[in-house]
Amino acid sequence: MTTATERKGLQATKQMRGVMGKYFAELAAGPEQGKKTAWCTSVGPAELLRSMGFNVYFPENHGAMLGATRMATDLIPEANARGFSPDICSYLTSDIGSYLKGETPLQKMGMEGPPKADVLIFNTNQCRDVKDWFQFYAREWDVPCLGVHTPRSIGDVDGPIVDDLALQTEALVEPLEELGGCKFDIDKLREVIILSRECTDLWKAILDTAASVPAPITFFDDTIQMGPAVVLRGTQDAVDYYKILLAELEQRAADGIGAIEDEKFRIYWEGMPVWGKLRDLSTQFMELKTAVVASTYCNSWIYEDLDPAEPFKGMARAYCRLFICRSEDRKEKYMEEMAAKYKVDGILYHDAKTCPNNSNNRYQMPQRLEAKLGLPHLVINGDLNDMRLYSEEQTRTNIEAFVEQLAER
Ligand code: SF4
Repeated sequence: MTTATERKGLQATKQMRGVMGKYFAELAAGPEQGKKTAWCTSVGPAELLRSMGFNVYFPENHGAMLGATRMATDLIPEANARGFSPDICSYLTSDIGSYLKGETPLQKMGMEGPPKADVLIFNTNQCRDVKDWFQFYAREWDVPCLGVHTPRSIGDVDGPIVDDLALQTEALVEPLEELGGCKFDIDKLREVIILSRECTDLWKAILDTAASVPAPITFFDDTIQMGPAVVLRGTQDAVDYYKILLAELEQRAADGIGAIEDEKFRIYWEGMPVWGKLRDLSTQFMELKTAVVASTYCNSWIYEDLDPAEPFKGMARAYCRLFICRSEDRKEKYMEEMAAKYKVDGILYHDAKTCPNNSNNRYQMPQRLEAKLGLPHLVINGDLNDMRLYSEEQTRTNIEAFVEQLAER
């Protein structure tokens, strides 16, 4: 039996743990099997790397694990002491701190630590920090760091931008062939892209189920369920798992079962998760009978432009249509559509101190959207990983007051 303040768990989650466990086991075994390891940013050209037989590792996923296990706050000062400012990305500082101190949650999974990179591949579509982060390891291990430089504040995803990004991605092929000792095969890339597209379409369908009232899944579940979309897109394992999860959620929606008992309010989460406080926040919202039904963050792994007929251009389009690298007016339009689609009563903005790139409250967007949509907003100050920047008490009080405000309306 589930009480009103317990999370209503998803049966599929157990299988997801199996899928993720298999990914990490294969990652650890890769070098012994003669596979080269490529580190890739979360919205980097993973399909290309996978098609060329690399072991693909995503350090942002490790950053999120360091945050969720609350190891990050102790590790960040290690990186700060080496000259990485406390004001820059706390994924970067916690990951580098973890490397310097030799402590990682991966040790609990039987791994010594993250696999050492043979090559690091970035895409600056998110921020400059990912390149600086990768360059630290490139210097440390004397390995190449290559990537794609995406412009910021993109309006139209037009021909010249797509052509440039596709050429930059294609230019990675030759050095990767030399490093990986493998020949690039366009048909293999198409196969991976088909699987990646299938994964992304399923992930979208999963998130879309939360448009039902009551929502069968919330943002807090999404942050856990997104694991395969991040680290396993382009594989059959991710596709198979998401089919199972989607079936469970569609059944919940058809039966009118909400993730939150007696859902009263629906909120949109804009910005990064507060990884170290997911459980506390999830519990508070559950007690307030408020479902956080959607987020920009979890929707960032939907790439409808991936196209096996045009592998490089499709990847280029997909990876620059990303919310984080778009212009303010495009972001605003996207938020409007999301608010309508998910029938939200209000919008919560997380101003993450060390991630200005993914904090969208800083240039008047909350005020403009509130005026346009008539939806109240709340800004909470915190961080993705550095819990020294997060006030539990203040956030709790502010969320309570916000939901009271929704009730009064
Ligand atoms: S987008 Fe933000 S959280 Fe992600 S790597 Fe860049 S600075 Fe860090």
